[in-house]
Amino acid sequence: MATKEFKKAARIILVGAPGVGKGTQAERLMKRYPQLSAVSSGDLLREGVRSKTPLGREAETFIRSGNLVPDEMILKLILNELKSKRWVSSQSSVTDPSPAEPSKSPSASFILDGFPRTAMQASRLDSLIPINLVVSLITPVNIILSRIASRWVHAPSGRVYNTDFNAPKAAGKDDITGEPLTKRTDDDEETWRLRLRKFDETSQPLLEHYDRKGVLWTVKGHSSDEITPQLFQELESRFG
Ligand code: ATP
Ligand code: MG
Repeated sequence: MATKEFKKAARIILVGAPGVGKGTQAERLMKRYPQLSAVSSGDLLREGVRSKTPLGREAETFIRSGNLVPDEMILKLILNELKSKRWVSSQSSVTDPSPAEPSKSPSASFILDGFPRTAMQASRLDSLIPINLVVSLITPVNIILSRIASRWVHAPSGRVYNTDFNAPKAAGKDDITGEPLTKRTDDDEETWRLRLRKFDETSQPLLEHYDRKGVLWTVKGHSSDEITPQLFQELESRFG
């Protein structure tokens, strides 16, 4: 696939129900636009859980049960990540955002997958760095549910596979490292339904927040393959 370049800085967030394919779209976007890098709040949290950081230990109970982790916890984690990528000034803190003018350079383009998830997280992010495209991904819930059952992950990298439509080259093994694939502990049906309920509770105020700012764009599809070309086209027209 040919890669493309942005002419303007793209600061994108992906919003969608659990299992809608945010991670899949982020991976595809990064392949097409090498200037883009992605931060996934779920991957960062799972990394913290695996390596047993203090924050990871605290977050684990929330994640396992399908609840959101508290805003303050996720804000701290994301702010550190944004600083280490130099997307926000190293002087910014959760209480004193002191935002600088965001870089207009196309190389300062990024995708946030899974953050912000609440209107409160969104307004905190606004004071750190302005987002210029919010992609709301919509897929019927019964389709997502059947996909979750066949979802496997390579935990160390966060790479996602699906035995129905995006199978690994060798069964049960990561394509790049050959290491074993595992199931996410929060991917059983009951926990997923709770995650979906949390999403339903929090997403409407979140999307309204961004709609008021005029940066909301909605895309629908029954599969990730139906969504990707629409997403590519939209990014092309906005940032290409
Ligand atoms: P997908 O299935 O598309 O990866 P998801 O919403 O199920 O999406 P993640 O984004 O990986 O999964 O998040 C997993 C869990 O991590 C959430 O259920 C929640 O507990 C926690 N989490 C991730 N991001 C946030 C956030 N911004 N605020 C609060 N909790 C979060
Ligand atoms: Mg994800």
